Amino acid sequence: MSDALACFTSQKPAQARPGWVYLVGAGPGDPELLTLRAARLLLEADALVYDNLVSREILDGVPAHIERFYVGKKASNHSLPQEGINALLVRLAQAGRKVVRLKGGDPFIFGRGGEEVEELVEAGIPFEVIPGITAAAGIGAYSGIPLTHRDHAQSCIFVTGHLKDGSVNLDWDMLARPRQTLVFYMGITQLREICAKLVSNGLPDSTPAAVVRKGTTLSQKVLVSDLARLADDVAAAGITPPALTIVGSVVGLQERLAWFHPEDGQ
Ligand code: SAH
Repeated sequence: MSDALACFTSQKPAQARPGWVYLVGAGPGDPELLTLRAARLLLEADALVYDNLVSREILDGVPAHIERFYVGKKASNHSLPQEGINALLVRLAQAGRKVVRLKGGDPFIFGRGGEEVEELVEAGIPFEVIPGITAAAGIGAYSGIPLTHRDHAQSCIFVTGHLKDGSVNLDWDMLARPRQTLVFYMGITQLREICAKLVSNGLPDSTPAAVVRKGTTLSQKVLVSDLARLADDVAAAGITPPALTIVGSVVGLQERLAWFHPEDGQ
C-alpha cells in the first residue's frame, strides 16, 4: 500500500498471516473500488484463488509472484465444483499459505461466501471476511441509477434470478409492489420470464427497467428500456452475462444522472 494511504491503516494485524484464508470482496470491477484492506491483502498474499467475476483490471494489478488458482468456468463451461473450491482453500491454508479467496462484489451477497466460510469453520482454519462493493451499489453509482430516491423508491430488493432447478420461483406478489427498486443478479437468461411475471403480477409494462453489463469497468454497457421491451432489446443488443437488471422508476433518472461514459467496446 502506498505511503500516501498509510494514514488509513486500521489496528488490524499489518500482515496477511500464514495459514489464514482471507475471503475478500473485489467489488464490481473498477480496481479503485477495492477496499484498502482488500488491496493490502492482495499485495501480501502468496496464494490467490479467484473466478470469472474478478475483473481483468484487478487481476492485472496483483503482483506476479503470487501463485494463482483459477476456479471459474473453463472453455468447457464447467467450473470447479464448490466442494473442490472449499477443499482447495483448506489445503492451501493447511500448507501454511497466506490465501486470498477473491470474489466479485461482496463475498456474502450471492457469492457462496457463506458456504466457503462454513467449510473453513468445519476444518478449523482461521479466516477473515472483507466486504466489497456489491454489483448493485457499484452499478447504481456508475450508471446513474440511485437505487432509492424519496420521489421514487423507499426500498430496494436484491433478488437472484437464477434458481437451482432453472425456474424463477420467487414471491412475485411482493416483488411487483410499487415504490420499490428491484435488482436482479444473474437474471439475464431468465429475463423474459422475470419481466412477464412482474407485469402479470401488477407492475405496469411501462415500468422503466435497465440491464447493465460489466458495470464500473471500461466495457460498461447500459441498456435502458421498460418491462414490455427489455427482453427483446437485450437480445437485439446481444448482451451476455455478467449483467445486472434494475427495475423501477429510479431507472427513469438514468439519462439525466449518468456520468460515467467509457468508450464502447474497450
Ligand atoms: N457477490 C457478487 C454477486 C455474485 S452473483 C456481488 O456482490 O456483486 C453474479 C452476478 O452478479 C452476475 O450474474 C451479475 O448479475 C452480477 N454482477 C457482478 N458484477 C457485475 C458487473 N461488474 N456488472 C454487471 N453485473 C455484475
